[in-house]
Amino acid sequence: MPPRNPDLAREQSHHPREFADFVYTYPVVSRRSGGVSIGVNLNLDKFCNFDCPYCQVDRTVPKPKQAISVSAIRAELEKLLAAFDANGICGLERFAAIAAADKRLRDIAVSGDGEPTMAPEFGPVCEMLAALQSSRPELDFQLILITNSTLLDRGNVLAGISHLLSRKGEVWAKLDAGTEEWYQRVNISRVGLDRIEANLIRLGQDHPYKIQSLFCGLDGVLPPAGEQDAYLGRLRRIKDSGSDIREVQLHTLARKPAQASCTPVTLGLLQDLRGRIETEIGIPARVYGIET
Ligand code: SF4
Repeated sequence: MPPRNPDLAREQSHHPREFADFVYTYPVVSRRSGGVSIGVNLNLDKFCNFDCPYCQVDRTVPKPKQAISVSAIRAELEKLLAAFDANGICGLERFAAIAAADKRLRDIAVSGDGEPTMAPEFGPVCEMLAALQSSRPELDFQLILITNSTLLDRGNVLAGISHLLSRKGEVWAKLDAGTEEWYQRVNISRVGLDRIEANLIRLGQDHPYKIQSLFCGLDGVLPPAGEQDAYLGRLRRIKDSGSDIREVQLHTLARKPAQASCTPVTLGLLQDLRGRIETEIGIPARVYGIET
């Protein structure tokens, strides 16, 4: 459904990670969240163990490694939460032109300029977020982890996720490919795709989760024939292992990617894939198109 007004459309298509003089956190109006999502950036140095050509993080301008302060993150979040009224409506000046119904607080999302689970402070941050959520039950927001799925086999990461999901939360885990060949073009990582699949199976032993999959063209070439079948095969194996996959979120490029060779796929391609996921694998799927 198209955004209702230009201000909303602009906010939903442009997600700056800078807010005021804050270091770690930033509020955005998110189409996928259905309201305001507060991002927590644990990768100030922009470090990631993927090198996705569609990534929107500009790594041509390096940033030094910076310590993560859990107490400073909490202080920023407390300030942001103070901007929401008793009904959870955001009163920040920046969103003044957005209708109240579109700027209700929905979630705090651990994501940022790289893979958040790589941060040594990931576990303590999750613990702090769970405590913060418990202290503000009237705001009724979720805690979300957006992850590329590479480190879901680590004990400290799984412990952090348990904190995040202890009250009300979700994991959105990336799976962008079915074949190792396409994966190494669209994600580029030393972590193999089989390990991603194994990690999702491991996560599913303890927690339900959602899968996020981005499809795009590269150098004018769409995902090759057989790629969709291989992708569906991985989904089937993950589901058959007992994972409770609540939804597969299908999307394509939302904003300007790091590499111009990367192009969006059509909504028709995503809709066809959605139908196959639902009928052949039996997992609910949703197309998010070109906006997130
Ligand atoms: S996993 Fe996310 S942050 Fe890392 S390179 Fe890919 S899109 Fe960028």
